[in-house]
Amino acid sequence: MSLPDLIATIPEAERRVGVYLHIPFCVKKCYYCDFACYAGQEKHIDAYVEALTREIAAYAGLEAETIYFGGGTPSVLGSRQLDAIMSALHRHLRVMPGAEVTMEVNPGTGGPDLWKTAHDWGIHRMSLGVQTFSPELLKRIGRDHAPEDVPRTLEAIRDAGITNLSLDLMYALPGQTMADWEDSISKALALAPQHFSIYSLILEEQTVFGAWHRKGKLKLVDEDLEIAMTEALEARMTDAGFSQYEISSWTRPGMESRHNTRYWINSPFIGLGTGAHSYWRNRRYAHGPGIPDYVRDPLPTLPEEPMSEREIREETVFLGLRMTREGLLKARYAERFGEALEVRYGETVRRLASDGLLEDLGDRLRLTARGIMLSNEVFAAFIE
Ligand code: SF4
Repeated sequence: MSLPDLIATIPEAERRVGVYLHIPFCVKKCYYCDFACYAGQEKHIDAYVEALTREIAAYAGLEAETIYFGGGTPSVLGSRQLDAIMSALHRHLRVMPGAEVTMEVNPGTGGPDLWKTAHDWGIHRMSLGVQTFSPELLKRIGRDHAPEDVPRTLEAIRDAGITNLSLDLMYALPGQTMADWEDSISKALALAPQHFSIYSLILEEQTVFGAWHRKGKLKLVDEDLEIAMTEALEARMTDAGFSQYEISSWTRPGMESRHNTRYWINSPFIGLGTGAHSYWRNRRYAHGPGIPDYVRDPLPTLPEEPMSEREIREETVFLGLRMTREGLLKARYAERFGEALEVRYGETVRRLASDGLLEDLGDRLRLTARGIMLSNEVFAAFIE
């Protein structure tokens, strides 16, 4: 049975999804990045966009509650290419009224035409990859933009009428001092976005940084400084009126990312494009990496077998615990799995709570401040 035929037969609730579109083109590969993205491949953008529209058509009949253009660098798309993707989405899927539609942007890319096209199609949220405002650190981590590109790009986006803005920042960068970090936080807050995604550097093996580290050529910040940077971040964000609703996410009231929240409450989403992952109809599946393979065959292949209930349960628990403010709601868990959370995890919860990593608030479980620092240890405890 073709996917559109299958979609026509499934209950309406199963047709509602988040839609992630992967745009794997970057002007330059950053030294820390191991995402599926490629520099110097711009000549393939048209063919890639055409393949994406074929994949969108394969899901005809689904209802998009959120749409997220990630990458890579979606803002390397031209207006005509963005227009082709948005028009395919609206032609084949039902884009729900009030759907959250986000695009990731790199400072210094895009321009007035692209922002206008985005605005005209209802892309009302932009997420900018700022990382740091230090020109030396930007060079050291292999970014392609300069600090002054950030306010310039933001202004042009706001001029086009898109005012819901998120900034990405990174800390614990090689050679970064506390003063650098404080300065980046101040400059980022001065730009008055509604949302931040903030990560400490994770060293990935298959990156330029990974290779330098193996050769002893990369000095990482020490653990004490990283902890102090995390504490400074928490103090500054809280003072500025932001609340941390997920391990890496800070928001002004009511401006949480609805698309990303789908991931954390383990709700279905489809991922379109090379390397993109999907979780739909209790199946996780992904395209392989590489632009040529995707362009040749962009149609998704769903695994025959759904995931086991145990796998879904474990994922639901540790993804839910990423929500540092709301926590993992016991009622939502019980409704989904037909039993109280304590039936399987009562002992684990008691142990983690007595170790000071988790708090049991009666109706929900939540990571403590120490649990956030040691979150991977907490998540591993829920794997049977
Ligand atoms: S711009 Fe983003 S996706 Fe592209 S290489 Fe840098 S970190 Fe990776």
